[in-house]
Amino acid sequence: MKTNLFDPFLEEPAGPLVQQAMENGGIAVGYTCSYVPSVLLSIPPLFPVRMRAPGASGTELADIYLSKLTCSYTRSLLEFSMDFRYDFLGGWVHAASCDHLRRLNDNMTYLLSPDFSHIIDVPHRAGKEGLDWFLEELKILIGRLETHFGLTISDDDLARAIADYNNFVGLLTSVAERRKEDLPPLSGTEFHKMMLAAFTSPRHLIRKPIETFRDSVRERKNIKAPRARLMLVGGQMDDPRYIDTIESTGAVVVADRFCTGSIPGLDPIGPAESPLRAIAEHTLLAPSCPRMMEDFDRRLKQIVDTAAAYRVDGILLEFIKFCDTWGVESASLVAALRESGLRVLSLEREYSGTGLGQLQTRVQAFLESMGK
Ligand code: SF4
Repeated sequence: MKTNLFDPFLEEPAGPLVQQAMENGGIAVGYTCSYVPSVLLSIPPLFPVRMRAPGASGTELADIYLSKLTCSYTRSLLEFSMDFRYDFLGGWVHAASCDHLRRLNDNMTYLLSPDFSHIIDVPHRAGKEGLDWFLEELKILIGRLETHFGLTISDDDLARAIADYNNFVGLLTSVAERRKEDLPPLSGTEFHKMMLAAFTSPRHLIRKPIETFRDSVRERKNIKAPRARLMLVGGQMDDPRYIDTIESTGAVVVADRFCTGSIPGLDPIGPAESPLRAIAEHTLLAPSCPRMMEDFDRRLKQIVDTAAAYRVDGILLEFIKFCDTWGVESASLVAALRESGLRVLSLEREYSGTGLGQLQTRVQAFLESMGK
Protein backbone atom coordinates (compact mmCIF):
# COMPACT_ATOMS: atom_id res chain seq x y z
CA MET A 1 0.00 0.00 0.00
CA LYS A 2 1.39 3.42 -0.98
CA THR A 3 2.03 5.74 1.96
CA ASN A 4 0.41 9.16 2.05
CA LEU A 5 0.30 12.22 4.28
CA PHE A 6 -2.56 10.88 6.40
CA ASP A 7 -0.74 7.69 7.52
CA PRO A 8 0.80 9.22 10.68
CA PHE A 9 -2.71 10.17 11.89
CA LEU A 10 -4.05 6.65 11.51
CA GLU A 11 -1.52 4.38 13.16
CA GLU A 12 -2.84 4.77 16.71
CA PRO A 13 -6.27 5.53 18.23
CA ALA A 14 -4.75 8.83 19.40
CA GLY A 15 -2.80 10.33 16.52
CA PRO A 16 -0.32 13.23 16.88
CA LEU A 17 -3.02 15.86 16.29
CA VAL A 18 -5.13 14.41 19.10
CA GLN A 19 -2.10 14.65 21.39
CA GLN A 20 -1.46 18.22 20.25
CA ALA A 21 -5.05 19.27 20.94
CA MET A 22 -4.96 17.66 24.38
CA GLU A 23 -1.70 19.44 25.24
CA ASN A 24 -3.56 22.67 24.48
CA GLY A 25 -6.41 21.89 26.84
CA GLY A 26 -8.71 19.95 24.49
CA ILE A 27 -10.68 16.98 25.83
CA ALA A 28 -11.10 14.03 23.48
CA VAL A 29 -14.48 12.30 23.61
CA GLY A 30 -14.74 8.92 21.88
CA TYR A 31 -17.76 7.74 19.93
CA THR A 32 -18.53 4.76 17.77
CA CYS A 33 -21.53 5.15 15.55
CA SER A 34 -23.09 7.59 13.08
CA TYR A 35 -26.13 7.86 15.39
CA VAL A 36 -23.94 9.72 17.89
CA PRO A 37 -24.13 13.45 17.03
CA SER A 38 -20.41 14.19 16.83
CA VAL A 39 -21.25 17.88 16.44
CA LEU A 40 -22.42 17.91 20.09
CA LEU A 41 -19.01 16.58 21.11
CA SER A 42 -17.25 19.46 19.39
CA ILE A 43 -18.24 22.24 21.80
CA PRO A 44 -14.84 23.54 23.04
CA PRO A 45 -12.85 22.25 24.80
CA LEU A 46 -14.40 18.94 23.71
CA PHE A 47 -13.54 17.35 20.39
CA PRO A 48 -14.85 14.05 18.97
CA VAL A 49 -12.68 11.05 18.07
CA ARG A 50 -14.31 8.21 16.16
CA MET A 51 -13.09 5.02 17.81
CA ARG A 52 -11.29 2.35 15.81
CA ALA A 53 -8.73 -0.34 16.54
CA PRO A 54 -5.95 0.11 13.96
CA GLY A 55 -3.85 -3.01 13.47
CA ALA A 56 -6.10 -5.15 15.70
CA SER A 57 -4.81 -8.70 15.50
CA GLY A 58 -6.62 -10.64 18.22
CA THR A 59 -9.28 -10.28 20.90
CA GLU A 60 -8.06 -12.67 23.63
CA LEU A 61 -8.98 -10.35 26.51
CA ALA A 62 -12.25 -9.10 25.02
CA ASP A 63 -13.40 -12.65 24.27
CA ILE A 64 -13.63 -13.25 28.03
CA TYR A 65 -16.44 -10.70 28.19
CA LEU A 66 -18.01 -10.61 24.74
CA SER A 67 -19.24 -13.73 23.00
CA LYS A 68 -17.44 -14.81 19.82
CA LEU A 69 -20.81 -14.31 18.14
CA THR A 70 -20.40 -10.57 18.72
CA CYS A 71 -19.01 -8.65 15.75
CA SER A 72 -15.24 -8.35 15.71
CA TYR A 73 -15.38 -4.53 15.51
CA THR A 74 -16.86 -4.26 18.99
CA ARG A 75 -14.59 -7.00 20.37
CA SER A 76 -11.54 -5.23 18.93
CA LEU A 77 -12.56 -1.94 20.55
CA LEU A 78 -12.99 -3.67 23.90
CA GLU A 79 -9.59 -5.32 23.47
CA PHE A 80 -7.97 -1.94 22.80
CA SER A 81 -9.80 -0.39 25.75
CA MET A 82 -8.66 -3.16 28.12
CA ASP A 83 -5.14 -2.73 26.76
CA PHE A 84 -5.27 0.93 27.91
CA ARG A 85 -5.13 2.20 24.31
CA TYR A 86 -8.15 4.45 24.93
CA ASP A 87 -6.98 5.86 28.25
CA PHE A 88 -6.44 9.26 26.62
CA LEU A 89 -10.18 9.82 26.28
CA GLY A 90 -11.96 12.16 28.65
CA GLY A 91 -15.01 9.95 28.18
CA TRP A 92 -17.12 8.38 25.48
CA VAL A 93 -20.60 8.42 24.03
CA HIS A 94 -22.06 5.34 22.43
CA ALA A 95 -25.39 4.75 20.72
CA ALA A 96 -27.60 1.73 21.32
CA SER A 97 -27.68 1.22 17.56
CA CYS A 98 -27.29 -2.55 17.75
CA ASP A 99 -26.98 -5.07 20.58
CA HIS A 100 -23.25 -5.47 19.94
CA LEU A 101 -22.56 -1.79 20.54
CA ARG A 102 -24.80 -1.86 23.59
CA ARG A 103 -22.80 -4.74 25.07
CA LEU A 104 -19.58 -2.93 24.19
CA ASN A 105 -20.73 0.06 26.19
CA ASP A 106 -21.84 -2.15 29.13
CA ASN A 107 -18.44 -3.85 29.28
CA MET A 108 -16.32 -0.75 28.76
CA THR A 109 -18.23 1.07 31.48
CA TYR A 110 -18.11 -1.90 33.87
CA LEU A 111 -14.46 -2.80 33.30
CA LEU A 112 -12.89 0.64 32.97
CA SER A 113 -15.03 2.79 35.30
CA PRO A 114 -14.55 5.91 33.15
CA ASP A 115 -15.08 9.41 34.50
CA PHE A 116 -17.68 9.97 31.82
CA SER A 117 -19.66 7.54 29.68
CA HIS A 118 -23.06 7.85 28.11
CA ILE A 119 -25.23 5.80 25.79
CA ILE A 120 -27.93 7.33 23.61
CA ASP A 121 -31.05 5.36 22.94
CA VAL A 122 -31.96 5.55 19.27
CA PRO A 123 -35.50 4.99 17.95
CA HIS A 124 -35.93 2.49 15.13
CA ARG A 125 -38.33 4.71 13.20
CA ALA A 126 -37.66 8.29 12.17
CA GLY A 127 -41.22 9.67 12.09
CA LYS A 128 -42.40 12.54 14.29
CA GLU A 129 -42.56 10.42 17.47
CA GLY A 130 -39.08 9.03 16.83
CA LEU A 131 -37.66 12.49 16.25
CA ASP A 132 -39.30 13.89 19.38
CA TRP A 133 -37.87 11.02 21.41
CA PHE A 134 -34.41 11.44 19.89
CA LEU A 135 -34.52 15.16 20.63
CA GLU A 136 -35.12 14.32 24.31
CA GLU A 137 -32.18 11.89 24.21
CA LEU A 138 -29.93 14.68 22.91
CA LYS A 139 -31.13 17.05 25.64
CA ILE A 140 -30.17 14.42 28.22
CA LEU A 141 -26.74 14.09 26.61
CA ILE A 142 -26.25 17.88 26.62
CA GLY A 143 -27.23 18.00 30.30
CA ARG A 144 -24.70 15.32 31.15
CA LEU A 145 -21.94 17.03 29.13
CA GLU A 146 -22.68 20.33 30.84
CA THR A 147 -22.65 18.85 34.33
CA HIS A 148 -19.58 16.68 33.92
CA PHE A 149 -17.38 19.02 31.90
CA GLY A 150 -18.60 22.27 33.48
CA LEU A 151 -20.02 23.64 30.22
CA THR A 152 -23.00 25.80 29.37
CA ILE A 153 -24.16 24.87 25.88
CA SER A 154 -26.39 27.56 24.36
CA ASP A 155 -28.26 27.64 21.04
CA ASP A 156 -25.57 30.01 19.77
CA ASP A 157 -22.88 27.44 20.65
CA LEU A 158 -24.83 24.78 18.76
CA ALA A 159 -25.33 27.06 15.75
CA ARG A 160 -21.59 27.77 15.68
CA ALA A 161 -20.79 24.05 15.95
CA ILE A 162 -23.18 23.31 13.05
CA ALA A 163 -21.62 26.03 10.88
CA ASP A 164 -18.14 24.67 11.62
CA TYR A 165 -19.27 21.10 10.86
CA ASN A 166 -20.91 22.09 7.58
CA ASN A 167 -17.85 24.05 6.55
CA PHE A 168 -15.65 21.04 7.29
CA VAL A 169 -17.79 18.51 5.39
CA GLY A 170 -17.88 21.02 2.51
CA LEU A 171 -14.10 20.75 2.32
CA LEU A 172 -14.27 16.95 2.31
CA THR A 173 -17.01 17.03 -0.33
CA SER A 174 -14.81 19.13 -2.62
CA VAL A 175 -12.38 16.18 -2.66
CA ALA A 176 -15.15 13.54 -2.88
CA GLU A 177 -16.64 15.17 -5.98
CA ARG A 178 -13.41 14.56 -7.92
CA ARG A 179 -14.20 10.86 -7.86
CA LYS A 180 -17.06 11.40 -10.29
CA GLU A 181 -14.63 12.33 -13.06
CA ASP A 182 -14.03 9.94 -15.97
CA LEU A 183 -10.43 9.61 -14.82
CA PRO A 184 -10.65 9.81 -11.03
CA PRO A 185 -7.48 11.59 -9.86
CA LEU A 186 -7.38 9.83 -6.48
CA SER A 187 -7.77 6.25 -5.36
CA GLY A 188 -10.45 4.99 -2.99
CA THR A 189 -7.67 4.10 -0.54
CA GLU A 190 -6.37 7.66 -0.46
CA PHE A 191 -9.87 9.01 -0.04
CA HIS A 192 -10.62 6.56 2.78
CA LYS A 193 -7.45 7.58 4.61
CA MET A 194 -8.47 11.23 4.37
CA MET A 195 -11.93 10.44 5.71
CA LEU A 196 -10.56 8.41 8.63
CA ALA A 197 -8.10 11.16 9.52
CA ALA A 198 -10.98 13.67 9.36
CA PHE A 199 -13.16 11.66 11.75
CA THR A 200 -10.42 10.74 14.23
CA SER A 201 -8.56 14.07 14.51
CA PRO A 202 -9.54 17.50 15.84
CA ARG A 203 -11.14 19.32 12.90
CA HIS A 204 -9.27 22.58 13.31
CA LEU A 205 -5.92 20.74 13.14
CA ILE A 206 -6.64 18.23 10.35
CA ARG A 207 -8.08 20.93 8.06
CA LYS A 208 -4.65 22.05 6.80
CA PRO A 209 -3.43 18.56 5.78
CA ILE A 210 -6.75 18.00 3.98
CA GLU A 211 -6.38 21.28 2.07
CA THR A 212 -2.81 20.29 1.16
CA PHE A 213 -4.09 16.94 -0.10
CA ARG A 214 -6.93 18.58 -2.08
CA ASP A 215 -4.44 20.93 -3.75
CA SER A 216 -2.02 18.10 -4.57
CA VAL A 217 -4.85 16.12 -6.21
CA ARG A 218 -5.60 19.17 -8.42
CA GLU A 219 -2.07 19.03 -9.82
CA ARG A 220 -2.12 15.36 -10.81
CA LYS A 221 -1.57 14.61 -14.49
CA ASN A 222 -1.36 11.53 -16.73
CA ILE A 223 -4.10 9.73 -14.87
CA LYS A 224 -4.74 6.19 -16.08
CA ALA A 225 -8.25 4.91 -16.78
CA PRO A 226 -9.28 2.43 -14.06
CA ARG A 227 -10.01 -1.17 -14.98
CA ALA A 228 -13.43 -0.73 -13.40
CA ARG A 229 -15.28 1.79 -11.21
CA LEU A 230 -16.59 0.21 -8.01
CA MET A 231 -18.80 1.33 -5.14
CA LEU A 232 -18.32 -0.06 -1.65
CA VAL A 233 -21.46 -0.43 0.48
CA GLY A 234 -21.79 -1.67 4.05
CA GLY A 235 -21.41 -0.92 7.74
CA GLN A 236 -18.34 -0.21 9.88
CA MET A 237 -15.27 0.16 7.65
CA ASP A 238 -12.10 1.80 8.87
CA ASP A 239 -9.33 -0.21 7.25
CA PRO A 240 -7.45 1.29 4.27
CA ARG A 241 -5.85 -2.12 3.64
CA TYR A 242 -9.25 -3.52 2.67
CA ILE A 243 -9.82 -0.94 -0.05
CA ASP A 244 -6.19 -1.11 -1.14
CA THR A 245 -6.58 -4.86 -1.67
CA ILE A 246 -9.68 -4.26 -3.82
CA GLU A 247 -7.79 -1.67 -5.83
CA SER A 248 -4.75 -3.92 -6.27
CA THR A 249 -6.82 -5.53 -9.06
CA GLY A 250 -6.68 -2.33 -11.11
CA ALA A 251 -10.23 -1.23 -10.19
CA VAL A 252 -10.86 2.03 -8.33
CA VAL A 253 -13.39 2.49 -5.55
CA VAL A 254 -15.06 5.75 -6.61
CA ALA A 255 -17.99 5.79 -4.18
CA ASP A 256 -18.50 4.60 -0.61
CA ARG A 257 -21.73 4.17 1.23
CA PHE A 258 -20.62 2.95 4.65
CA CYS A 259 -20.45 4.29 8.22
CA THR A 260 -17.24 6.28 7.77
CA GLY A 261 -17.72 6.96 4.06
CA SER A 262 -18.77 10.02 2.14
CA ILE A 263 -22.32 8.89 1.40
CA PRO A 264 -24.31 9.95 3.34
CA GLY A 265 -21.52 10.89 5.80
CA LEU A 266 -20.86 14.25 4.15
CA ASP A 267 -24.43 15.51 4.06
CA PRO A 268 -24.51 18.94 5.72
CA ILE A 269 -26.79 19.64 8.67
CA GLY A 270 -29.84 21.42 7.29
CA PRO A 271 -31.88 24.24 8.84
CA ALA A 272 -34.67 23.50 11.35
CA GLU A 273 -36.74 25.36 13.95
CA SER A 274 -33.82 25.20 16.42
CA PRO A 275 -30.14 24.17 16.19
CA LEU A 276 -30.74 21.13 18.39
CA ARG A 277 -33.70 20.04 16.26
CA ALA A 278 -31.46 20.40 13.18
CA ILE A 279 -28.83 18.16 14.79
CA ALA A 280 -31.46 15.60 15.81
CA GLU A 281 -33.02 15.47 12.33
CA HIS A 282 -29.64 15.16 10.65
CA THR A 283 -28.34 12.48 13.01
CA LEU A 284 -31.46 10.34 12.92
CA LEU A 285 -32.23 10.64 9.20
CA ALA A 286 -28.89 10.85 7.39
CA PRO A 287 -27.23 7.47 8.16
CA SER A 288 -30.16 5.25 7.03
CA CYS A 289 -28.52 2.18 8.59
CA PRO A 290 -30.37 -1.15 8.23
CA ARG A 291 -31.15 -0.89 11.96
CA MET A 292 -33.92 1.56 10.97
CA MET A 293 -37.30 0.03 10.24
CA GLU A 294 -39.29 0.84 7.10
CA ASP A 295 -36.34 2.60 5.51
CA PHE A 296 -35.24 -0.08 3.01
CA ASP A 297 -36.61 1.68 -0.07
CA ARG A 298 -34.83 4.94 0.76
CA ARG A 299 -31.56 3.05 1.31
CA LEU A 300 -31.95 1.15 -1.93
CA LYS A 301 -32.75 4.31 -3.91
CA GLN A 302 -29.75 6.10 -2.45
CA ILE A 303 -27.41 3.29 -3.54
CA VAL A 304 -28.96 3.07 -7.02
CA ASP A 305 -28.80 6.86 -7.47
CA THR A 306 -25.21 6.99 -6.24
CA ALA A 307 -24.19 4.16 -8.57
CA ALA A 308 -25.61 6.19 -11.47
CA ALA A 309 -24.02 9.49 -10.37
CA TYR A 310 -20.57 7.89 -10.04
CA ARG A 311 -21.10 5.63 -13.09
CA VAL A 312 -20.02 2.51 -11.23
CA ASP A 313 -19.57 -0.83 -12.99
CA GLY A 314 -20.27 -2.89 -9.89
CA ILE A 315 -21.06 -2.80 -6.19
CA LEU A 316 -19.21 -4.57 -3.38
CA LEU A 317 -21.43 -5.12 -0.36
CA GLU A 318 -19.29 -5.75 2.74
CA PHE A 319 -20.35 -6.59 6.26
CA ILE A 320 -18.60 -7.85 9.37
CA LYS A 321 -19.36 -11.45 10.38
CA PHE A 322 -22.22 -11.58 12.92
CA CYS A 323 -23.29 -8.00 12.16
CA ASP A 324 -27.03 -8.36 12.72
CA THR A 325 -27.98 -5.28 10.82
CA TRP A 326 -26.01 -5.46 7.58
CA GLY A 327 -25.82 -9.26 7.66
CA VAL A 328 -29.61 -9.62 7.66
CA GLU A 329 -30.11 -6.82 5.17
CA SER A 330 -27.54 -8.10 2.69
CA ALA A 331 -29.69 -10.88 1.18
CA SER A 332 -32.62 -8.64 0.30
CA LEU A 333 -30.36 -5.75 -0.68
CA VAL A 334 -28.30 -7.85 -3.09
CA ALA A 335 -31.48 -9.17 -4.74
CA ALA A 336 -33.01 -5.69 -5.03
CA LEU A 337 -29.83 -4.16 -6.45
CA ARG A 338 -29.56 -6.94 -9.03
CA GLU A 339 -33.19 -6.37 -9.99
CA SER A 340 -32.22 -2.74 -10.57
CA GLY A 341 -29.67 -3.94 -13.11
CA LEU A 342 -26.57 -3.54 -10.94
CA ARG A 343 -23.82 -6.11 -10.57
CA VAL A 344 -23.15 -6.95 -6.92
CA LEU A 345 -20.59 -8.99 -4.99
CA SER A 346 -21.41 -9.73 -1.33
CA LEU A 347 -18.43 -9.99 1.03
CA GLU A 348 -18.48 -11.11 4.66
CA ARG A 349 -15.33 -10.14 6.55
CA GLU A 350 -13.62 -9.86 9.91
CA TYR A 351 -12.77 -6.44 11.31
CA SER A 352 -9.07 -7.25 11.68
CA GLY A 353 -8.38 -7.48 7.96
CA THR A 354 -7.67 -11.19 7.72
CA GLY A 355 -8.43 -12.91 4.42
CA LEU A 356 -7.15 -10.12 2.19
CA GLY A 357 -5.70 -12.65 -0.29
CA GLN A 358 -9.11 -14.25 -0.69
CA LEU A 359 -10.68 -10.81 -1.10
CA GLN A 360 -8.34 -10.01 -3.96
CA THR A 361 -9.18 -13.30 -5.70
CA ARG A 362 -12.93 -12.72 -5.35
CA VAL A 363 -12.78 -9.15 -6.65
CA GLN A 364 -10.61 -10.32 -9.53
CA ALA A 365 -13.22 -12.96 -10.45
CA PHE A 366 -16.01 -10.37 -10.09
CA LEU A 367 -14.26 -8.04 -12.53
CA GLU A 368 -13.71 -10.87 -15.00
CA SER A 369 -17.41 -11.80 -14.76
CA MET A 370 -18.16 -8.24 -15.89
CA GLY A 371 -15.77 -8.58 -18.82
CA LYS A 372 -13.32 -6.10 -17.26
S1 SF4 B 1 -20.75 -3.88 12.51
FE1 SF4 B 1 -22.90 -4.43 12.76
S2 SF4 B 1 -22.98 -5.59 14.65
FE2 SF4 B 1 -21.03 -4.51 14.59
S3 SF4 B 1 -21.41 -2.62 15.64
FE3 SF4 B 1 -21.80 -2.20 13.54
S4 SF4 B 1 -23.97 -2.54 13.21
FE4 SF4 B 1 -23.42 -3.46 15.15
